[in-house]
Amino acid sequence: MSVVELNAVATVHYTGTLPGSGEVFDTSEGRDPLTFLVGHKQMIPGFEEELMGAEKGERRTFTLEPERAYGQKMDEAIQTIQKDMFGDIEPEVGMTLMSDVGPFNVTAVEGDTITVDFNHKLAGETLEFSVEVVDVRPASEEELSHGHAHGPDGHED
Ligand SMILES: [Zn+2]
Repeated sequence: MSVVELNAVATVHYTGTLPGSGEVFDTSEGRDPLTFLVGHKQMIPGFEEELMGAEKGERRTFTLEPERAYGQKMDEAIQTIQKDMFGDIEPEVGMTLMSDVGPFNVTAVEGDTITVDFNHKLAGETLEFSVEVVDVRPASEEELSHGHAHGPDGHED
């Protein structure tokens, strides 16, 4: 029987909550389960570590401190920029926008000075996951050479 291990393809249903508030920040409930190739940086590190050895049908619940999730917030990732840098976009607090170096959030608007935060929204957070292994199988040669899992119906990308 296959278990979750390096180079396995795991399919899971998961719900992620913030232990403090109980807020669900992400869940596969009501959607297709998530399929990923284990050990190829598709997932945050702790998520895979906690599922190692799990069999199909197994459920696991675990808590990840920031170091094994999205890391700590970094002060240098918070910057102020001038409003004209946004072009046609009217920046508002809470917006998530895309830049050349990744997504960022608008955290303050004071006149023409805009504070933006490049930290991941879940940086600095401890995360709790409840995961059910829906399926697990060895990866194909093709999947291993691509470094990602392919869908049940063949090649996705
Ligand atoms: Zn591929």
